[in-house]
Amino acid sequence: MSNPIWFDPSLCLVNGKWCPGTSGQTLPLINPSDGVELCQIARGTAADVDAAVTAAKAALQGDWGRMTALDRGRILTRLGQLVLDRVDELAMLEAMDVGKPLTQARADAIALARYCEFYGGAADKIMGETIPYLDGYTVYTLREPHGVTGHIVPWNYPMQIIGRSVGAALAMGNAAVLKPAEEACLTALAFAHLAVEAGLPAGALNVVPGLGGEAGAALTAHPGVHHISFTGSVATGALVQQAAGRNVVPVTLELGGKSPQLVFDDADLDAALPFLVNAGIQNAGQTCSASSRILVHRSVYEEVKSRMAQAYGDLTVGPAADDQRLGPLISERQKQIVTGFLDQGADLPIAAQGHIIDTAPQTGAYVRPTLFADVPADHTLARDEIFGPVQVLIPFDTEEEAIAIANSTDFGLVASIWTRDGGRQMRLAKQLRSGQVFINNYGAGGGVELPFGGVGKSGHGREKGFEALYGFSQLKTVAAYHG
Ligand code: NDP
Repeated sequence: MSNPIWFDPSLCLVNGKWCPGTSGQTLPLINPSDGVELCQIARGTAADVDAAVTAAKAALQGDWGRMTALDRGRILTRLGQLVLDRVDELAMLEAMDVGKPLTQARADAIALARYCEFYGGAADKIMGETIPYLDGYTVYTLREPHGVTGHIVPWNYPMQIIGRSVGAALAMGNAAVLKPAEEACLTALAFAHLAVEAGLPAGALNVVPGLGGEAGAALTAHPGVHHISFTGSVATGALVQQAAGRNVVPVTLELGGKSPQLVFDDADLDAALPFLVNAGIQNAGQTCSASSRILVHRSVYEEVKSRMAQAYGDLTVGPAADDQRLGPLISERQKQIVTGFLDQGADLPIAAQGHIIDTAPQTGAYVRPTLFADVPADHTLARDEIFGPVQVLIPFDTEEEAIAIANSTDFGLVASIWTRDGGRQMRLAKQLRSGQVFINNYGAGGGVELPFGGVGKSGHGREKGFEALYGFSQLKTVAAYHG
């Protein structure tokens, strides 16, 4: 694969200028397809975060803060076009950095452009309201930005998560400080270059790469940050919430899940099958909304098992540039986590596994996608987020049992129902404990327009759609007495 890095990846963006981190230290960025170092990135520290927050604050008091919603929207729309113009380059960067097969990486780049277009178009369409009140008063509400927003982005979908979080924050007039994951920085930096090219004023977007425990922790603890948006693990999310609590600032947490698909005896299995498999193996299962639990009515269980097993047999895993169905996991560390889960399933029947192509480098972080059958609902594999290409099949006998199993984990991000029974569709949509419910489809990761977020340990707050714009703003009530 030729080197697609068209910028200096070892720099931070602070106040519109590209600069090395103040520590002068850098960190290696590894290509998970072969384990070889791609480049060095800045190891940003608390001092860099502080400079970025100061720059963001200044931007709010300067050109950016004074800009009309219409002009903010125009910049975002222009940014979306620049992303579209460079879709293939961005896809290549993401493929090398994250190990995403090129087709998926390209889809992520297009989604990033779509977020910019959506939030660019929406920027001047968020309005307050007038409230009928006492005689002699006129009361209305204003939607205002929080101020400086902190964005902690993980490595699994950098472009999509930057689009939904930074895009919405900028649309509402916040000034953003972005800390990408140390294992996946390239598209964050490329996006920032394009944002500058699109005309975003200095300080409106700042990017400080670095370690989670250093730059990330410094950003979440910084008293000058007014809102934090975090996507990642439950454990780190809890730390982020504690840090936000100390400064009494709102936080949006998106912490993944154990999302179920419920397949009933009257389901259209031909329609369901691609979704059942793809929602589990997309991005090698490293998807917050991955569907890792497939609950199937016993009367169609064997048929679903055998058809999914057949599909798994066709799954191939290889380097991102080869564009197989699955790429490697993000890192050797993630491979160890997933392998540990596979070991815990040693007592369970394996319905099928995909295979790693012969030419995949031994030094890449590859695992075979694995479908487990007859998994007890309380087994670790049926309860914990694995974040790898592993799905479990669980049989059920009644609708009540299916709901009880679906709702039995700590998570609640996405669920889907496969049934032709309209009454059951409506009942279950209400009874499933989940931020999103899909009926006869599964929207893993998609849907720029659809509010997205979890309940329970999947987190709180909503991203995507117009809902994100409410989250990235605060309401001011103005009550005027005029007699
Ligand atoms: P983390 O939750 O630790 O990392 C997510 C983001 O938080 C990264 O940008 C990370 O930076 C940053 N971070 C880490 N520690 C802190 C901190 N103390 N304060 C502020 N920010 C911090 O996830 P991991 O990358 O360690 O992955 C572990 C597991 O987390 C996965 O196996 C998966 O289960 C889950 N996960 C879930 C995701 C989701 O989409 N819901 C996404 C990623 C992971 P850095 O990478 O530089 O450490």
